Amino acid sequence: MRAAWLAALAALSATPAFAGTLTLTGVMTGADHQTFREVPFRVPAGTTAVTVEFAYTGKDEKSAIDLGLRDPQRFRGWSGGNKARFTVTETWATPSYLPGPLPAGEWRLILGVPNLRKDGRAEYTAKITLNDSPVFHGFAEAPLKSGLGWYRGDLHLHTGHSDGSCAGRTGQRVPCPLFRTLEAAAGRGLDFVAVTEHNTTSHHQALAELQPLFGDLLLIPGREITTFRGHMNVLGVTAPLDFQLGAPRAPSLDTILDQVAAAGGLASVNHPGLPSGEVCMGCGWTAPTGDSRIQAVEVVNGAISSGPLSGIGFWEARLNEGRRITAVGGSDNHDPALAGDRAVGVPTTVVHAENLSQDAILAGLRAGHAFVDVQGSPDRLLDMTAEANGVTARMGDVLSLGPGKDARLRLRVKGAAGGRLVFRADAATRVLEPRTLAGDDETVDLAVAGAAGRHWLRAVVVDADGRPWLIGNPIYLDGDQAAASAP
Ligand SMILES: [Zn+2]
Ligand SMILES: [Zn+2]
Repeated sequence: MRAAWLAALAALSATPAFAGTLTLTGVMTGADHQTFREVPFRVPAGTTAVTVEFAYTGKDEKSAIDLGLRDPQRFRGWSGGNKARFTVTETWATPSYLPGPLPAGEWRLILGVPNLRKDGRAEYTAKITLNDSPVFHGFAEAPLKSGLGWYRGDLHLHTGHSDGSCAGRTGQRVPCPLFRTLEAAAGRGLDFVAVTEHNTTSHHQALAELQPLFGDLLLIPGREITTFRGHMNVLGVTAPLDFQLGAPRAPSLDTILDQVAAAGGLASVNHPGLPSGEVCMGCGWTAPTGDSRIQAVEVVNGAISSGPLSGIGFWEARLNEGRRITAVGGSDNHDPALAGDRAVGVPTTVVHAENLSQDAILAGLRAGHAFVDVQGSPDRLLDMTAEANGVTARMGDVLSLGPGKDARLRLRVKGAAGGRLVFRADAATRVLEPRTLAGDDETVDLAVAGAAGRHWLRAVVVDADGRPWLIGNPIYLDGDQAAASAP
């Protein structure tokens, strides 16, 4: 007895404390049959995620080792023999485990031994990863689809975790389960969604639970930072963020944007053209606009795709200030049962990305490699590239022209027969003539003249009445730079 106590004490004092990977190994024998063993490890202050990967030998002899977890203060869950890997964070955890603060100190892996034969032996290895970064790379462990391509998604959705509602079984309005919204998105064939509840993170647990079920729909954690001076989506972050703009916690937008940047998130201004007042408190954007940490703007919110209430005016004003800022769309759907122009996936943001993973989709959005499909079609395409000096730039890129040089522009438009291709540009750039799209898959080649300074040029496909179908991001033409670059 005394020897066991001394051994436990020795193990305790030997437990290291660091962010990184820690491997705990041990042996169970027949003497451990139907007993529990608690294996200590130290979690340092500032840890943001604890991931355990567990393996053991002897399964062919019916040896079994079950798994659970305690933090210094409380029981954190038990997965028995049903999970070989799990993660616990402040806002979400693998099912079987409880999310919540990760207190520094001695944690314990609980090992239960339901069966080990008298002469049996099982060697276990627990690889424990202690992460100290707030950057989150996604609920999926690997890309859901591989390969460079266009991926379609909805970047603005609410469920019962904020003010989303739907009809319950007896007809009353109820806070709508997040699952319903994901079903609606999957039903439209979307590749990704960002669920963006107002200021809260309570939906992250549901996203973590549902990602495996929705194996072809990437679930991006989002938040609509909802302030009295405007609304802003933050995408890809699970860490807590302040939202009380004007209060001591967030005296200025800088405080929030610093946190977003530290967490590797993408900040996107929502519906900046809406009025702000008693109809919709804080809906219009009256906070500062010049910050380069704001990387996107929602130009289409639900059915509002043009006119003064859309985000187009706000976006073009930023482009004219010389900013590179990506136009996106979001349905802002609050009820997954809605159809038509209020449905989940209307509009869709279509992103050119390396693969279907959170990091790749956010990188594509930051780069501006995206267009908005206003009606959320399954397959419309608006691709624009520009070539000069042997370099090809995609929408969102800067193309260096050099003084007096032309760029060759190529557009490919699919699924828009009968529509018209029109161009918008800053005041100094010659706007190209519009043209009618006769076929369902059209390629258009044009030349655009360079001018001194930096300029933007973007393409839009509109219907016969001038309503937009497809809104492309600009290519930025730099007439001063002779050196080729397409960052
Ligand atoms: Zn809003
Ligand atoms: Zn919203």
